Amino acid sequence: MAVATLTIDLDALAANWRALDRASASGVQTAGVVKADAYGLGVGPVVLTLAHAGARRFFVAACEEGVLARKALGPGPQINVLSGHMEGDTRLIRDHDLTPMLNSLDQVTRHLEALPGHAFGVQLDTGMNRLGMEEAEWEAAAPFVLEAGPDLLMSHLACADDPDHAMNEVQLANFRAMTEGTGVARSLAATGGILLGPAYHFDLTRPGIGLYGGRPYEGAAPVVRLTLPVIQSRLVAAGEAVGYSCTWTAPRPSLIATVQGGYADGILRSLSGKATLWAGDVPCPLVGRVSMDLITVDVSHLGQAPATLDLIGPNQSVDQLADVAGTIGYELLTRMAPRLARRYLGGQRQ
Ligand SMILES: *Cc1c(COP(=O)(O)O)cnc(C)c1O
Repeated sequence: MAVATLTIDLDALAANWRALDRASASGVQTAGVVKADAYGLGVGPVVLTLAHAGARRFFVAACEEGVLARKALGPGPQINVLSGHMEGDTRLIRDHDLTPMLNSLDQVTRHLEALPGHAFGVQLDTGMNRLGMEEAEWEAAAPFVLEAGPDLLMSHLACADDPDHAMNEVQLANFRAMTEGTGVARSLAATGGILLGPAYHFDLTRPGIGLYGGRPYEGAAPVVRLTLPVIQSRLVAAGEAVGYSCTWTAPRPSLIATVQGGYADGILRSLSGKATLWAGDVPCPLVGRVSMDLITVDVSHLGQAPATLDLIGPNQSVDQLADVAGTIGYELLTRMAPRLARRYLGGQRQ
């Protein structure tokens, strides 16, 4: 097979959800954030597995993603849309029973006029300055909005991956001040916020990256493995160059494996000349440029080219590879291309 394989361990995904669920007090609900096709892993199998583990509430970025989650889940679990109720969203929200998290008075007005009585939540800005109503806007709108019966008030932390950052307590205090006494369920914590401790948990937590095995949840079970097939191998003489722009020249006679997988698959070009692949437990350096569909790997020390090499696996986590690429695990996961073969282990798929 000439495509790389992304293996997704759904049992590890479920174990991570359960562990994050146990990390908060009983009575605190744990949702699942499945935006961007469940961080690139495939929204269908991911929502079914999380629902089976006990998740009753999911978050997506846009209504179009919510529709895909609903098709997989069927009726029942709540699907929250972080972008709220945009013009043109009304039909999708109604037909697929989506719950918009309204971000402004404009969105509140649109929602209450278009779909009176349809569930909604409200997103508040407590300092990140990205989404949600700001303090002054909320103060003016709160009596009217609360009267309409939102089922969740939420905000998002800007610096939760850094427990010592002063912004965490600032946002916590702002969130308390904006929501205390409303009687509405509240949510502040994503993965990082869960790890900050119970003061941040409120009624509902919203983990994403931790479910998929990424930082800052260091205790996560690894969920993904990326295995690339070797298409061809060749002996390269000392002094011969490999790949685009001839950026690598063999210092000695070398056995070079040409491996299917390139930047069109989500193997970032910034990994050129820097990444390590693994033949089982043996490290093999990527040499030369990452091209669209292929990379080249020095396997001289193996004696012969293996059938496959792992780029993400037991010896290299998503975050370790992201460090090499100069990015974060979130970006690597969400860049995993549609053309990768996705193979699911365990879990719940229908
Ligand atoms: C993406 C996102 C999450 C999940 O964040 P992780 O860091 O992946 O756990 C939660 N809430 C909001 C508003 C988000 O945008």
